[in-house]
Amino acid sequence: MNCLQAARVLQSYLDGETDEVTARRVAVHLADCRRCGLEASVYREIHNALARAAEPDSGAVERLRAFGASLLNDLQAGEDDAEHGTTPPAGA
Ligand SMILES: [Zn+2]
Repeated sequence: MNCLQAARVLQSYLDGETDEVTARRVAVHLADCRRCGLEASVYREIHNALARAAEPDSGAVERLRAFGASLLNDLQAGEDDAEHGTTPPAGA
């Protein structure tokens, strides 16, 4: 496997989506090739960071839900005002 082939399957390899033979070839190349090994470690870092960010604590989820509910309330309140003609549209 050369660098081009390694680069082409690197993402799938890190996601564990390559077959066993390909995974072994990539692993061998990454061990031999400093440049690709470095690139793989960078990808892996990004991958890990994204995985951490994808697991919000329950408090954050709750705050987000409350924020969404308040936005919905504001939206409905705004619609009521418009129906009664008490609030001129912004920027008119
Ligand atoms: Zn390489």
